[in-house]
Amino acid sequence: MAKLLRAAVLGPPGSGKGTICKRIAHSFGLQYLSSGHFLREGIAANTEAGMLAKTYIDRGMLVPDQVMTRLMLPKLEQLQNHSWLLDGFPRTLAQAQALNSLYQMDLVINLNIPLETLKDRLSDRWVHPASGRVYNMGFNPPLVQNLDFIVIQQKRSEKRGVRGKHSHSLITPQVTLTLLSLYCKEKWLL
Ligand code: AMP
Repeated sequence: MAKLLRAAVLGPPGSGKGTICKRIAHSFGLQYLSSGHFLREGIAANTEAGMLAKTYIDRGMLVPDQVMTRLMLPKLEQLQNHSWLLDGFPRTLAQAQALNSLYQMDLVINLNIPLETLKDRLSDRWVHPASGRVYNMGFNPPLVQNLDFIVIQQKRSEKRGVRGKHSHSLITPQVTLTLLSLYCKEKWLL
């Protein structure tokens, strides 16, 4: 059996993580797992974890580590014999440590994007709530303009995540550096 690949992409909201992850996963035949997507699924299905997560997401904050590890680790357990690529998880040191305790990562890619570029991208970012599809009006607009255009909604909470009072919770250089130093030490970082 071919060696399994365990990979993750780190990057703040607006860094293009989702788009890049989907392309890599598609090109290399990896299972794509997006924590944001699973959270939105839980919210749409009104699950207990989904409702709890919503209270944080709506305020532009990170969902607590325990909720995230309980959500993500069982998904990985179901994929023991698959190569996978994580999008949006881990986002904190505690999440990275929980992941490391179960899996040896092979590759971690960090997207290092200037804050001004992130602000510009997020002001163009819209989401289709029913499907969770994310668009950028500049470079990734909805394909069916007159259909999706009417129902998509701006992700205001995430914009607050970059600009507003909760910015510390989503994209602090400290959190990124802590994660990076962990992965650098393990020599998995690209
Ligand atoms: P995303 O689609 O990855 O940008 O995630 C959307 C939102 O879900 C984020 O802004 C966070 O509030 C929350 N979220 C996603 N992944 C995580 C995570 N690993 N830890 C904490 N919160 C998360």
